[in-house]
Amino acid sequence: MREGVVWMEDQLYGGTVATAPEPESVLLPGHDVPLGRYTTVRRLLPQRQLRMVAAWCFVDHFGPEDVSGRPGMQVPPHPHTGLQTITWLVDGEIVHRDSLGSDQPIRPGQLNLMSAGHGIAHSEMSPTEHPPGMHGLQLWVALPEGARHGEPRFEHHTELPVLRDGDATITVLAGRFGSAESPAGVHTSLVAVEMVLPGPGAHRLALNPAFEYGVLTMSNAVDVAGTTVAPGSLLYLAPGRSELTVEAPGEARVALLGGEPFEEDLVMWWNFVGRSHEEIVQAREDWMAGRRFGRVAGCSAEPLPAPALPTVRLKARDRHGRTAG
Ligand code: MN
Repeated sequence: MREGVVWMEDQLYGGTVATAPEPESVLLPGHDVPLGRYTTVRRLLPQRQLRMVAAWCFVDHFGPEDVSGRPGMQVPPHPHTGLQTITWLVDGEIVHRDSLGSDQPIRPGQLNLMSAGHGIAHSEMSPTEHPPGMHGLQLWVALPEGARHGEPRFEHHTELPVLRDGDATITVLAGRFGSAESPAGVHTSLVAVEMVLPGPGAHRLALNPAFEYGVLTMSNAVDVAGTTVAPGSLLYLAPGRSELTVEAPGEARVALLGGEPFEEDLVMWWNFVGRSHEEIVQAREDWMAGRRFGRVAGCSAEPLPAPALPTVRLKARDRHGRTAG
């Protein structure tokens, strides 16, 4: 029997059966946030009561949106520390440029993974000639202590493993799912998959009981663990589940993020993930002084200035938003 599961006795037709209560699930509405000058994203993490799901510390869903005759994604050069960014597109085109010299268009079905380590700068801009649609995810993964001081790195993946469950296709974006493992280089036990359901149906997914999970839908509502999840909300699932049923009344596109709960307390501010106020102050100073992060060649847009720091000290928080002491 798994730890953490309390068995209860239920009276049923005069007999007794043992049933396990479902591990906790919480539906968390996201909120709209402007990204760059022209894009609005639905931010599903962090939230006040839930900062992270496993190492996933930032979940943005953008689109679907008609960007014909408009600039599309326009995010000028900006820095990152202590995290990985994962960009997954289902429609549109974005050019990623970074201070390592990467100049890489990303298109639907492809995955970009940028590891900031101790510091990197990048820009994300739709090219002047771009497809009419824009739809995708940007996810941040907090780097654990053993990886966050490392060298920056960039990966572009055009081939990702795809599993089939009936008429549904499951693309493994990061980590291992079932028999398939993504080539994306990560540093904690985690998983991200995208499930495309072409029509009505129910699909049972095997989960890792040691993992917590977040479920979101990019297109149309689905029923997950007895809860209806629509675009714009994240369903949190606590550890302890070995399977999950995803039921769709029609076509849908669902993302499942999970992993081992992340135990390190973090300071997240602007584009930096660190462990202390001092680290964040130093990263901000380095960016404003043109140190550490390098220069994004080939991007004509002016680098983004860092916002002013708050007047209070930034505090490290655990994944529930609690500060120590
Ligand atoms: Mn970025």
